[in-house]
Amino acid sequence: MPQAAQAIELAYFVAALLFILGLKLLSSPTSARRGMHLAELGMAIAIAGTLLDHHIVTFTWIIVGAAIGTAAGIVIAVWTPMTAMPQRTALSHAFGAAAAALVGVSHYYAEGGHLPSGAMVALGIEVMLGSLTFTGSMVAFAKLQGWLPGVPMTFKGQNVSNLLLLAGIVTATVWVIANPQAAVVFYIMVGLALGFGVLFVLPIGAADMPVVIALLNSYAGLAGAATGFALDNKILVIAGTLDGASGLILSIIMCKAMNRSIANVLFGAFGKTPEAGPDAGVHGSVRAVSTDQAAELLAGCESVVVVPGYGMAVSQAQHAVKDLSDVLGERGIDVKYAVHPVAGRMPGHMNVLLAEAGVPYDQIYDMDQINGDFPRVDVAIVIGANDVVNPAARNNKASPIYGMPILNADKAKSVLVLKRSMAPGFAGIENELFYMPNCMMVFGDARKTVTEFSAALKQKAKAA
Ligand code: NAP
Repeated sequence: MPQAAQAIELAYFVAALLFILGLKLLSSPTSARRGMHLAELGMAIAIAGTLLDHHIVTFTWIIVGAAIGTAAGIVIAVWTPMTAMPQRTALSHAFGAAAAALVGVSHYYAEGGHLPSGAMVALGIEVMLGSLTFTGSMVAFAKLQGWLPGVPMTFKGQNVSNLLLLAGIVTATVWVIANPQAAVVFYIMVGLALGFGVLFVLPIGAADMPVVIALLNSYAGLAGAATGFALDNKILVIAGTLDGASGLILSIIMCKAMNRSIANVLFGAFGKTPEAGPDAGVHGSVRAVSTDQAAELLAGCESVVVVPGYGMAVSQAQHAVKDLSDVLGERGIDVKYAVHPVAGRMPGHMNVLLAEAGVPYDQIYDMDQINGDFPRVDVAIVIGANDVVNPAARNNKASPIYGMPILNADKAKSVLVLKRSMAPGFAGIENELFYMPNCMMVFGDARKTVTEFSAALKQKAKAA
């Protein structure tokens, strides 16, 4: 084997090891940062190895592409707010999938008629998955960014027509694999796959978009792996397969946390009919209290569980929340954090924010670890969370979130809910918790309210 080829193989081997190690470390908040750096190093080594390939005729376009990609990457990384991370992820999947599809189309254009059937299978899958993932991810991006309505956009017979379209795409792909010279059928397949991506994602509500994004991530990975087979590139096969498998596992984890099946997420048009049914339990009145009254309650308690949700991310209240837990801790109050697996808008959203604010990991509890403790907790402070503490998921069979495991905040002796209004959460439904006798609402922006709690408690400590 020539020296350059040996160096490439070695670079790919090291990169693959770093990717696998990186993924492993990403599974815990304590090691996630290190995992990310290892994966970055792996990617740099993989790119360096690829640049040694003797097929490269000129570096001009590679340098131009790398410069544009680097500039775009820096801009996106620096200016995307944390709350826009789901749509940012959708956009990068769209780019990855478009790259796989374009490589496949150009490969076919250059050598289509003469490719052996094995390479044609990989190329067909690559272009099909790449095309539908590109448009699907763009629609997901537009829905999350508010450029398209977030509600499911449906029409009668949609699932059937989508299935027929999919059957057409598969037939065209098989046709092209059997007859690589049939260029017209190849380009029809590309067009149908692009259309399918749009029609597949339009009927899915924005609330389910994170699951769709994880699934599209999986498709983008598989398209990358197929590209690797078509180009005989081992690192693309390995990285694409890791991406494909992790995307699928993530979507299954999210579905489990919402007690929904992937089929229900993809074909159920969730969010279309927001009524929670006749036994919604949202009767009576809500009790609003001032920040001073809430601080009074906190001053007299022994244990607090903080339940963060999407609103904490919106108001960027995580640092104020950490300050509050320090103030409570100084008074000898036991403070824990309860994190629901789908709180916020992406997996691990709350963990990232709490880690950023310096909350010790041993104070952060998963739902299963802490749910049994709530009846013994003096005060549960629900900060910008809504759906993940809605007892309708337990009590109301007609509710769209029925069956979703929730944090049992309603079982605490007292509950303080911090939000700006009575507006619903992402599922678009009313929350029974707000009407319960042990619940008090503190209306206002979460960061401001939490800061006022801390100030009032400090004042009390000084006065004592
Ligand atoms: P949520 O149900 O969406 O509720 C968030 C609440 O935050 C809103 O009711 C809003 O009420 C409040 N809020 C917004 N801005 C605020 C601010 N500046 N200050 C104070 N409050 C503010 O959030 P969640 O309980 O975290 O539930 C997450 C939802 O996303 C679930 O339905 C879940 O299924 C869905 N989801 C998440 C994932 C994931 O991976 N995390 C994936 C798929 C789906 P006001 O407007 O009245 O303030």
